[in-house]
Amino acid sequence: MQTIQIQEVGKIKEIKKSIAKITGLSRCLIGQLVRIGEHVQGIVVGFVRGEIIAFLLGKIEEVRVGDRVYSNIEPFKIPAGEGFLGRIVDALAEPMDGKGIIETRDEGRETRDEIVHRPGDRSERSSVIHRRYPVFRRAPGVLQRVPIHRPLETGILTIDATVPIGRGQRELIVGDRMTGKTSICTNTILNQKGRGVVCIYCCIGRTYASLYKIVELLKEKGALEYTIVVAAYAASPGGEQYLVPYTACTLGEYFMDRGRDVFVVFDDLTKHAWAYRQLSLLLERPPGRDAYPGDIFYLHSQLMERAGQYSPEFGGGSMTFFPIVDTLQGDVTGYIPSNLVSMTDGQIYMNTALFNSGFRPAIDLGLSVSRIGNKVQSPAMRELSGMLRLEYVRYKELLKITRFKTSVSEQVTKQLKDGEVLTQFFTQMNNEPYTAEEEIVLLYALRRKVLSVLSTGEIDYFKKNIHGFIGERFPAVAHRLAEKRELTGDLRREIDECFVEFFKEKGMEISGMEMER
Ligand code: ATP
Ligand code: MG
Repeated sequence: MQTIQIQEVGKIKEIKKSIAKITGLSRCLIGQLVRIGEHVQGIVVGFVRGEIIAFLLGKIEEVRVGDRVYSNIEPFKIPAGEGFLGRIVDALAEPMDGKGIIETRDEGRETRDEIVHRPGDRSERSSVIHRRYPVFRRAPGVLQRVPIHRPLETGILTIDATVPIGRGQRELIVGDRMTGKTSICTNTILNQKGRGVVCIYCCIGRTYASLYKIVELLKEKGALEYTIVVAAYAASPGGEQYLVPYTACTLGEYFMDRGRDVFVVFDDLTKHAWAYRQLSLLLERPPGRDAYPGDIFYLHSQLMERAGQYSPEFGGGSMTFFPIVDTLQGDVTGYIPSNLVSMTDGQIYMNTALFNSGFRPAIDLGLSVSRIGNKVQSPAMRELSGMLRLEYVRYKELLKITRFKTSVSEQVTKQLKDGEVLTQFFTQMNNEPYTAEEEIVLLYALRRKVLSVLSTGEIDYFKKNIHGFIGERFPAVAHRLAEKRELTGDLRREIDECFVEFFKEKGMEISGMEMER
């Protein structure tokens, strides 16, 4: 069958920074791509009296008033495919890592890119393989989804134990500058090694240097091969910064539609909102609260909706979002942060004071929540981490009350000591994610009060070495933990034995350890 392409040609009438007014195009869609010269494209964002308004993308300095504009009347699409793994691309999904063009043909077959459908969608012939995906795609409907039920292990003990994340969840990472927000996300990416999760790191309006650091880290740890980096720097045109999260999302949907699990980081949406505000003000759209345009809420919620867990009939894929948002002086009531809090399934709140006091990752457990709850945790994890959050929050309160008291009761002293152990328990080095088994062993040690009898240095030593020790000396126990992730009576006894053996071998004092239950 032959397809007919209708193309219209228009002219640029006016350019204002990265916005162009174009005349002569009588048919256009919002969100459609127009081409201007070889290196520049535009995305249609509005109409006024016979003119269309487009955000310019690419080498915008090459565009002049009077240039011709070519328009194909079809939604804006980008290529997507396996070939993107390990690559760094821009907002138009074009490579910017100098490794050549990205092959996106599925199984070497020529494809028709006009038809895009979701898996299981019976209305289209199933022989159609799609190569190009629309960037502004509708989110999957309710009937295509099932409740989130599988865990996404971040490898960060605090998160996995107290604010567990499920595959398909949207968890906001919120905090001031330099509080370890990006580190939470990069750690999670590193932890997905060998788990078949496709990771996407979307850099919005950040500096080249900060992106470079992340790419180097991913390369060094062998994580780039299952990761796609999608970037629009601070120096990129505003239109690209506006578009880039949707590009990242679309690349993720390719894998999600094929039944894979995807993890996407948006670093960060504050810059995205700034870019959109700048463009809107240039368009003379009426400013609203904090001078943001009124549709900024729609913009972000449209993006957040696209995460989710497909039902088995639709392939069972999932897409998890970690949007990052900056706050000023810890104020989560700002316009953009509070919008995002309301449209995500929980938030991880990073605290500057905690970060500076050396409690890293600086997660404020009092303000962090995951609305998915512990139903995505493994049975062992659920049992061991039950009251952990509450205990920690209570300790923090107690600390505040007793700060100026000179003498406190014995019971309070003990509670404070337990709290200190907990603090140290949650402290974790950057880029050293724990496996789920390691987390269970550590939590078990905490619950058995093994850590309470150790000094600060010893706790660190224990945390670092116990898992390796079990793997080496008691491989059967390690194997059973990895397989079942459930604590049976036998397994408990065996882990206890491992602890005793560990302390004996390392010559550590364990006189106070409560071995009876
Ligand atoms: P920005 O606002 O600039 O984006 P951010 O909140 O994303 O900052 P990061 O860049 O993740 O913060 O981290 C800031 C610094 O803190 C980095 O130098 C990082 O190495 C360090 N850091 C983060 N997490 C930890 C940790 N768990 N242990 C030790 N250092 C950490
Ligand atoms: Mg950051």
